[in-house]
Amino acid sequence: MGNCKYCGQPAGFLRRQHKECAAKHDQGWRKMIDLAQQAAQGQGDINSLHSRISSIAAYSFVPAEQVNQAIITGWEQAAAHFIEDGNLSLEEEHQLTQFAAHFNLSQNELDQRGIYTQFVKGAVLREVMEGKIPERVKTDGQLPFNFQKSESLIWVFDGVDYYEDKTRRQYVGGSSGVSIRVAKGVYFRTGGFKGHPVETTERVHMGTGIMAVTNKHIYFTSPQKTFRVRLDKIVSFMPFSDGVGIQRDAATAKPQFFITGDGWFTYNLLMNVGNVE
Ligand SMILES: [Zn+2]
Repeated sequence: MGNCKYCGQPAGFLRRQHKECAAKHDQGWRKMIDLAQQAAQGQGDINSLHSRISSIAAYSFVPAEQVNQAIITGWEQAAAHFIEDGNLSLEEEHQLTQFAAHFNLSQNELDQRGIYTQFVKGAVLREVMEGKIPERVKTDGQLPFNFQKSESLIWVFDGVDYYEDKTRRQYVGGSSGVSIRVAKGVYFRTGGFKGHPVETTERVHMGTGIMAVTNKHIYFTSPQKTFRVRLDKIVSFMPFSDGVGIQRDAATAKPQFFITGDGWFTYNLLMNVGNVE
């Protein structure tokens, strides 16, 4: 006879848990995360949150050590909710920052699943759309680019795969066959980027390297290839789940593709970064 991993009482032949205990645990855990998410979204008292979810843990067979994880998960869900619903407002950003500070949550803890990075990206997009220069990029050492005096670095992507199409052809965007154009200042939602990775059948991998975005150019450098593209020479941007394609305004220009791993952010950034003075 095994004992129930929740209540410690005999659970029956070859059983490790009582159904009722497992249900109680799962329900309690969900409730803990819900409360944390609400508080992170500014609904519910932040000061009593820890004691409220600790008491739920105590009667739901949730170990006390997991209270902190529930608070982190609540923050993540709140951040994902704010980003998913259209844009991360300044107020929402402050709310999340305050919550994280209150519970001493580190960036590493909040980035276990990459949500902190998305949070920062959301803030960068908002600032870019407001025409501001986000000062959120810190690089170790010098970037291998010769920026012009009149331009401002907005973002740097590392480990970017760069592709070019073998042949020049009229681009018909996305798998829907419709070329997507988003008005400037409009935030293209994350849902639109799911499931359409850049297909590589006709594309040639030209290098893996660093891509920097300023308010004037895209810069790319890899051992094989280094170049920059003026943003105002790009006539269309193509959104993919894992990156973007661009088409330059030149008779000989072939479509170029940058696989950053995050099409949502890259596309929204490039669509709007030209607004920043
Ligand atoms: Zn039990």
